[in-house]
Amino acid sequence: QSQEVSQARIDYHVALQALQEHGTRMVCSGKMHTDRICRFDYLCYCSEAEEFVFFHSNSSVMLPNLGSRRFQPALLDLSSVEDHNTQYFNFLELPAAALKFMPKPVFVPDVTLILNRFNPDNLMHVFHDDLLPAFYTMQQYSDLDDEARLVFMEGWGEGPHFDLYRLLSSKQPLLKEQLRNFGKLMCFTKSYVGLSKMTTWYQYGFVQPQGPKANILVSGNEIRQFAKALMEKMNITKKDEYIVVFSRSTTRLILNEAELIMALAQEFEMRVVTVSLEEQSFPSIVQVISGASMLVSMHGAQLITSLFLPRGAVVVELFPFAVNPEQYTPYKTLASLPGMDLHYVSWRNMKEENAVTHPDRPWEQGGIAHLEKDEQERILASKDVPRHLCCRNPEWLFRIYQDTLVDIPSFLEVLKEAMKVKPNLKKTKVASTVHPGRVREPQCQTSVQTSNEAKLTVSWQIPWNLKYLKVREVKYEVWIQEQGENTYMPYILPQQNYTFSENIKPFTTYLVWVRCIFNKSLLGPFADVLTYFL
Ligand code: UDP
Repeated sequence: QSQEVSQARIDYHVALQALQEHGTRMVCSGKMHTDRICRFDYLCYCSEAEEFVFFHSNSSVMLPNLGSRRFQPALLDLSSVEDHNTQYFNFLELPAAALKFMPKPVFVPDVTLILNRFNPDNLMHVFHDDLLPAFYTMQQYSDLDDEARLVFMEGWGEGPHFDLYRLLSSKQPLLKEQLRNFGKLMCFTKSYVGLSKMTTWYQYGFVQPQGPKANILVSGNEIRQFAKALMEKMNITKKDEYIVVFSRSTTRLILNEAELIMALAQEFEMRVVTVSLEEQSFPSIVQVISGASMLVSMHGAQLITSLFLPRGAVVVELFPFAVNPEQYTPYKTLASLPGMDLHYVSWRNMKEENAVTHPDRPWEQGGIAHLEKDEQERILASKDVPRHLCCRNPEWLFRIYQDTLVDIPSFLEVLKEAMKVKPNLKKTKVASTVHPGRVREPQCQTSVQTSNEAKLTVSWQIPWNLKYLKVREVKYEVWIQEQGENTYMPYILPQQNYTFSENIKPFTTYLVWVRCIFNKSLLGPFADVLTYFL
């Protein structure tokens, strides 16, 4: 754990002179603060003011140069949670000449990634908001390698999962509070600020009720590669054929865990093991999960560990009474990402008498004693939590922190029903993810038969990449649109040419699009549109 930044590796005077002469340089990617990541030379941080500083000189660069739009609302999001007003990044500006009157800067030689962790106490947030985005931000910029330095600016302490953040690079990550140890002014020789949001799949309900992101850009492939890289760092090896019950020991309990375990063992004739964050190290949990055939757990952050399950495994998520599984789907969304190859099932407690509530606990653990009597009664009478925003809805917290006696017959029923439709893993494995290229040399030939009869013959060549692929089913889709109409006629064809005569009129202009489709669902791009006058 080397916390000191080695000054030996850079020539102090050269660095100081460069800073004084050239100032700070910034070049960013992204059009909006929500998709921006910036690279800096000589970005500085003043620990007294708790501000980043951009030094202007004749050769400093600031791209985008937003003027005061830089504050509307910010230059960029420092965490992967979109547009959250506690997670904005900006800097103060100073002329480089001011350096003469400032404390001597300490230079950080490492290439540094500066970011905010969103909620380092919660395992789901650790993975979804921090580890995956940081891992893939580092892949995006090749100088953010195993030697990169991570700096967490959200201002929290290490938190219970700091060892996981340590896996991202060989250097000890720095916390905001540690930056003052480097003196009043520290300057990052090379740094990147911000996190890629490309891998996130869930929004937590700050502006609309929680749910999967509208435009998910990650597939199971990237999640699994991340999981594999992490498992290699944790020295995890493979085992086989057992069921894991992930148990919580303080809140949201399964009250008849032993009975549940017995039932699972009997039903599937498999060994059942339990794991819990309270009793085991994280790597030992991943060791167990990475070999499991099924993971059973109450809804909760510990379910993020399903990203370490082997392909083909089943995730069973249990929900307390009055909580609708369809409304809380971070783990369902993860399991259902294409290429994740997990089978997801949810079970919900439908029997109120099997729920144990905790009205007298503090509000953040679902207590409702602080509410008006009427409101308490309304919540107690309600059998379904209505949709709500994050993060303090008392009815939601009350219900989600109930303990549950799992009704074994209905639980097994749900499982059996789900196992019936369990997809054949072999099939999904060989299903290729290669998309067709454009069809080549698309052509039309026309012939007018009579004044109200005409024919349109369309032909094309196979996409260039097809000759290198083994594809189960190759089809072509042709769209024919009459110019000026906003509808079109779609056709799916197995061959490379076709003569259309139905609905084709003479003295009309037609637009024709052709694309290739592999295995019913992998759509290629359309070839350039053909315009034909008949
Ligand atoms: N946690 C746990 N056992 C418990 C309660 C919580 O291991 O009995 C963990 C949980 O997995 C998460 C963190 O503590 O990483 C915070 O739990 P909380 O209930 O606040 O969040 P949730 O699980 O609902 O996301």
